[in-house]
Amino acid sequence: MPRKANNSYCMAKKKPCIVIDPGHGGDDLGAVGYDNLEEKAIVLYISKLVKKSLQSKGYDILLTRKRDCFIPLAKRTEFASKVCADLFVSIHANAALNKDAFGIETFYYPHGYGAMQNNEQTAYLQSYLNQKTLYSLMLAENIQRSLCTELSAMHFIGHAIDRKVKKAPFQVLIGSTQPSVLVEVGFLTHPYEGKLLSTNDYQQRIAKAIVKGIVDYINTITFA
Ligand SMILES: [Zn+2]
Repeated sequence: MPRKANNSYCMAKKKPCIVIDPGHGGDDLGAVGYDNLEEKAIVLYISKLVKKSLQSKGYDILLTRKRDCFIPLAKRTEFASKVCADLFVSIHANAALNKDAFGIETFYYPHGYGAMQNNEQTAYLQSYLNQKTLYSLMLAENIQRSLCTELSAMHFIGHAIDRKVKKAPFQVLIGSTQPSVLVEVGFLTHPYEGKLLSTNDYQQRIAKAIVKGIVDYINTITFA
């Protein structure tokens, strides 16, 4: 049974607990880009920056992994449920066979509920899934907007980095019991963006923008 969908009520009373999920780890390198840049290392570093910044603002932040180790996807969402997280943010970097692909995209999962029977229990589940979907979309939009605003000046004029908020049935999004998103912070395989992603300055900007997106979302929910 999913955790009771009371995020908005919780947030009005306390600082939320947020689980940050650095993608991949251990033998699972994730994407590998130019100069053998490994996704698992970049997203762990960014996730640690996000954690530090949100903690300094008084939020309760936990990482699904703190070091270079493999953690199955189901364990990541189980962990978030166990600690009663209010939000789940998975951080990844992209790769494509087409080396021209670049930009930022954020995913959420719209739960389907068309086939349910109309009784008390499924009405509760439906309302929970509706709320999770709506909040996930709002979180995705805030993070996506913040990243594109922060990072667009680092790219060539005319290179639109906003690949938009998208829907996808990723396991961490389906399995999570709180509003959840998966953000792809750029393409390691793009010659220019891949190089940017390897720099400390760009990683700091990404972390700053993700933090702003999360805080904007929380403020929207709390004061709506
Ligand atoms: Zn990934």
